[in-house]
Amino acid sequence: MTDSTDRPRSASGRRKPPEFRNMQVLRTEHLTPHMVRVTFGGDDLAGLVVDEPAASVRVLLPMPGTGELVVPEWNGNEFLLPDGNRPPIRTFTPRRAEDGELDIDMVIHEGGLASTWALQAPPGDPAAVSGPGRGYTIDPGASGYLLAGDETAIPAISQLLEAIPSAIPVQVHVEVATAEARLDLPGSPEEEWHLGTGDPGATLVDAIAATDVTDSNRVWCAGEAAAMHKIRTNLFKERGLPRSIATVRGYWKRPRTT
Ligand SMILES: Cc1cc2nc3c(=O)[nH]c(=O)nc-3n(C[C@H](O)[C@H](O)[C@H](O)COP(=O)(O)OP(=O)(O)OC[C@H]3O[C@@H](n4cnc5c(N)ncnc54)[C@H](O)[C@@H]3O)c2cc1C
Repeated sequence: MTDSTDRPRSASGRRKPPEFRNMQVLRTEHLTPHMVRVTFGGDDLAGLVVDEPAASVRVLLPMPGTGELVVPEWNGNEFLLPDGNRPPIRTFTPRRAEDGELDIDMVIHEGGLASTWALQAPPGDPAAVSGPGRGYTIDPGASGYLLAGDETAIPAISQLLEAIPSAIPVQVHVEVATAEARLDLPGSPEEEWHLGTGDPGATLVDAIAATDVTDSNRVWCAGEAAAMHKIRTNLFKERGLPRSIATVRGYWKRPRTT
């Protein structure tokens, strides 16, 4: 079976992701104590075109322990290593892809494979990227935009702010772990930064619940999956707003405690 991209779908209906492109770390830079920008380079990146904000890419990292890059096989449903194990792949926002370079802004958090790697990734370290996955199409007729997210959503929110026409008013809510995690956002949106409470996304749930949203507004929001579920419940079930006005995406999952 094929789709409009001509990439085959498996029997389970999952489309084979684009092939991995090899790349290497050129440099890393701390944007905040909680966010490291990793800039990759490599000849293969010349063909990586990102033309929508808030798109995604899969980044394949070197194997922890050996530092070797092992390119996995697509089995029709997921990528697997030759030994059947899951490869070290994580999803990120391609913050800048141009001139054969790719910037990925990675949040630093405890116990994260990518996060731990980003803190010490030396120039020349190998990695690979597959994508991009679809981004967000701006509605030029929106009467206003509400953008919200935690630190993992800052790269996407920044791209959305760059893409939304300046005549459309934008309100932004960002939840950060500490005050130093705050970054300058593009343009001059009405912005509110919330200090996290230890319950990821809780301040975003409260902020959105307290914001007037109408059918003519558009909402984009991303962060911890359970918090995003509460935001969908608020917008679509409690307020009865049409699903078409809001894109609410779980970017990561807090581990279950029970
Ligand atoms: C479309 C999309 C775009 C994304 N864009 C970005 C981006 O640009 N930048 C970015 O940093 N992330 C982004 N993410 C989120 C990122 O994929 C996850 O946070 C991922 O789990 C990070 O990988 P890791 O190896 O550091 O942690 P993992 O090894 O996957 O997770 C280890 C542990 O850390 C927890 N964890 C994962 N993420 C966080 C976090 N942010 N804060 C606290 N605990 C966490 C997990 O629950 C797990 O228990 C995006 C996700 C999606 C789906």
